[in-house]
Amino acid sequence: MNIYKSISNRLKSAACYKTLAAVIFFIICAQKTIAQQAARFLPQPGSYHMMLGQIEIVAFSDGSIPQELDKLLTNVEPEEVRRLTKQNFQQPTVEASVNAYLVKTGGKSILIDAGTSELYGPSLGHLPANMRAAGYNPEQIDAILITHIHTDHTGGLIQGDKIVFPNATVYVSKAEADYWLNEDSFSKAPAKMKPYFEQARMKMLPYVKAGRVKTFVYGTELFPGIMPVASPGHTPGHSFYQLTSQGQKIMFWGDILHSGAVQFARPEVTIVYDVDPGRAASSRKKAFREAAANGYWIAGDHLSFPGIGHVKAYGNAYQWYPINYTTTGSGQ
Ligand SMILES: [Zn+2]
Repeated sequence: MNIYKSISNRLKSAACYKTLAAVIFFIICAQKTIAQQAARFLPQPGSYHMMLGQIEIVAFSDGSIPQELDKLLTNVEPEEVRRLTKQNFQQPTVEASVNAYLVKTGGKSILIDAGTSELYGPSLGHLPANMRAAGYNPEQIDAILITHIHTDHTGGLIQGDKIVFPNATVYVSKAEADYWLNEDSFSKAPAKMKPYFEQARMKMLPYVKAGRVKTFVYGTELFPGIMPVASPGHTPGHSFYQLTSQGQKIMFWGDILHSGAVQFARPEVTIVYDVDPGRAASSRKKAFREAAANGYWIAGDHLSFPGIGHVKAYGNAYQWYPINYTTTGSGQ
């Protein structure tokens, strides 16, 4: 018997149709599993675009890095960290995002924080590449608003010995510049803090020398719709940047929190890098309270990319509602 005829005859039987359907189903399932596995191992997406009124905002990812919350968080018991992370479907070691934000207003391209560059290994330092992939480049940045001079926010200003944003003026609060860049406070810094000062200075001083750093005090707009807001504690001159357009508002939060799972529920929880933990906790409680009461947008540098969303209050605790977005990447 002809083999094709034989197959055709067999396929005519209901049993064979069932077998064929099962085979096709199996192939589809196998393909789905492979696609899901591939998606799981993709890095997080590099950029995310939104409009606030008439102003364009682009969130950029600098990458992410595993963070051991047990070692990072203070003023909390390890069991509580385990409980809260579990409640949020996380482990006590989380993949922490590093985000930066581009704001296009008044004909200027303004970046809020600058990523890390080479300082923290290959999973971070992707801000310039992610900007280029989205059609932007570091040369077109006119201004960089720094929330604070920790090197996961300022490291990206310099790559090796090269200025990454050659046409940008860097804005930072006077209190922050005085703390990190002043020779007197550098010489008085305790030995264990010296390396942090050295790294911070290495990334900022080339811009100072080039005359491209401007310090500000609070209370005046820096650009149309952009107002710096004091939020001290994590560092002495830590700043938020408030952006408004057509009655809408977003607050760029910098480092007001480092673990959404733990600190929204327990705002009193501090971290080892807080210069003044008590003050950092009060600034955080105030920030959460105001964000929840007013319902404006939030953008956080270490919240899972793109780090944009809203906050609601439930008694003394808060809940984070990330912006609803779709992506081909894992999005964490
Ligand atoms: Zn940070």
